[in-house]
Amino acid sequence: MPRSWARRTAQYCVPVPPDISALTALIRDIPDFPKPGIMFKDITPLLGDGPAWVATIEMLAALNDGGGVDRVVGIEARGFLVGAAVAFSLGVGFVPLRKPAKLPFHTTSVSYSLEYGTETLEMHTDAVRPGDRVLIVDDVLATGGTAAAAVQLVRGAGATVVGASFLLELTFLHGRVQLPGVPVSSLITY
Ligand code: AMP
Repeated sequence: MPRSWARRTAQYCVPVPPDISALTALIRDIPDFPKPGIMFKDITPLLGDGPAWVATIEMLAALNDGGGVDRVVGIEARGFLVGAAVAFSLGVGFVPLRKPAKLPFHTTSVSYSLEYGTETLEMHTDAVRPGDRVLIVDDVLATGGTAAAAVQLVRGAGATVVGASFLLELTFLHGRVQLPGVPVSSLITY
């Protein structure tokens, strides 16, 4: 059984994993946000439910507990919420990947294509070291472009990507195709 469910989540103090459908029920669909045609997956109800959030993080950590992770990399902005909590649970450091001009120290950057236009992610040059074993975490895997940019940044620093883990995966967008050679795990799939 993943390490600390019994210790930290009274509601889920059971010998079997919490029912994923109870967590899925706390994810809210917002149609046409932030633009027409997008069904936005709003995780704020899940974030706001203490026992459910703890169980969520413990399950994500358990999926990656054994891969010898040195650092967790989280992608701005909701990836910070999930990634920092997973890093805490694994007892390893956290590295934020940010939008341009947000990080104060020297940075490396990767630009990638979106449906309309391009986006850029930056990482501090000393955030991961060559040989580090890095887990990439975000809230949603959609087309995979964002996670692929994160993989490029981490590998560019000489570190190894040991996995990419997501709270939600929109499987019909085939984001995993953008992450060849990366073990991908997600808690909830649509
Ligand atoms: P992608 O690069 O297409 O895989 O998109 C992943 C990023 O966009 C993640 O950082 C998500 O936070 C965000 N994202 C994409 N699609 C959605 C969605 N339907 N609901 C919420 N967030 C999304």
